[in-house]
Formats: sequence, structure tokens, C-alpha cells
Amino acid sequence: MITENIHIVKEKIAEICDISGRKPEEITLIAVSKTNPVSVIEEAISAGITDLGENKAQELRDKSKLIDGDFNWHFIGHLQTNKVKYVIKPAEYIHSVDSVKLVEEINRKAGLIDKVQKILIEVNTSGEVSKYGIQDFESLKNLIEECKLYSNIEVKGLMTMAPFTSDENVIRKCFSDLREMKEKLNNHWQNITELSMGMTNDFKIAIEEGSTMLRIGTAIFGQRDISKNWREK
Ligand SMILES: *Cc1c(COP(=O)(O)O)cnc(C)c1O
Repeated sequence: MITENIHIVKEKIAEICDISGRKPEEITLIAVSKTNPVSVIEEAISAGITDLGENKAQELRDKSKLIDGDFNWHFIGHLQTNKVKYVIKPAEYIHSVDSVKLVEEINRKAGLIDKVQKILIEVNTSGEVSKYGIQDFESLKNLIEECKLYSNIEVKGLMTMAPFTSDENVIRKCFSDLREMKEKLNNHWQNITELSMGMTNDFKIAIEEGSTMLRIGTAIFGQRDISKNWREK
């Protein structure tokens, strides 16, 4: 099931790349494994998944101790400063950084283990009050300038979530806004290269708008069963 889903998703990505003049190698497929048990995640890794995404700090810490192999963990959820300690060791990338306070704590905890933590800045492109992220370009630029003062942080790109809507234009606008912000930042900083955008329902539009990291859960693992803890499945 999962192996087949991964093939289908990869084929779709290749197809969309083909039509929009992009290369699949430019895009990292992150399989969002939250709520799924270890056995299921291991199946995804066997099927060629190289990047996994989790949105809860302790769940990432616990799973990272139970699964090993040649793949990267991405922390994609909202992160509280008091939980940085759980993700700092396993996370190759932290996608959801949106405050100086969080930057300071990530820098401090990364320093303790002699790591330069790769981060993305989360931008709220939809304007929805329910969403986290930086609200406007000036604040984004200020936060990145602040990050440059910390030696155990490396800003690699931007992340956003489009609203859950069937209106393609609304989704496309969120993704193109994020891409334009990145392009503007590239006038100052060329090594801000990543655009983490696109989930199960909107990854086609995200690829068309320049995504370099897709975060896909449902299309790979099926509907999430939240009635049980991932350990009990
Ligand atoms: C759960 C989640 C995803 C994956 O969503 P699907 O619609 O299942 O593909 C992507 N990004 C974030 C931040 C998530 O929490």
C-alpha cells in the first residue's frame, strides 16, 4: 500500500515537473509520518523515502531513537522554546521558526552539541489568524538579519502553509508570495535556497510555483488515525 503510494506520488511529481519545466531532483519529498507507527515508517524508508517529517517534538525524539537508517528528520510543527531540547539532536531541518526567542534557544541548544542547525523561517502568507509564522516582509528580513548574529544557526529558506480551500487562486497566491519573498531576500543572501510548501492537496500548485520541499502525509500514509497513540498501532 505505502510502497505503491510512494511510487504514485513520485510519478506525479515527475509529471508535474515535466509540464512545468522543472527537474524532480530539485525537489525533496518529505514523507510526513506523524501519528504513524514505527513499522509503517520503516516500510516507507524501504520504499526509498529519504526524508521524514514530524510535527510533535516528543514524538520526533522518541521515533528517532527507535528508527535508524540513512534518512533525514524534518521538524515541521509549531515549536515551543521549552521543547527545542527534544528536536535539536535528530532534526536535520527545523521548518517552523518564527521568533527571535526561538532562534536564541535553537542556537543555544545547537551550540551545546556543536551543531549548526539548518532552519527555515515560517511565513504566514494566508493572513489566517489560526496560522503561525511571520506576517510581513520587513519582519521576515529583520528576523533573518538577527539569525546572522548566531553562529549555530543557518537559515536555508522559507516555509508556508496555504489555507484549506478549493480556490486554487488563493493557494497559488500564497505560494507565489513566498517565492517572491525568497527572491527579494536573495538580493542580500544567496544561500537562502529552500521553499518548503505543498502538501497532499496542493503540491501540484506548489511545484509550479517553485517549491523545493514538499511535505506530504495523507497521499503516502492514508488518512491519519488519531484515535490511538502511534505506539499502540
Ligand atoms: C500534517 C502536515 C503536513 C502533511 O499534510 P497532508 O495533507 O497529510 O499531506 C504538511 N505540513 C505540516 C506542517 C503538517 O503538519
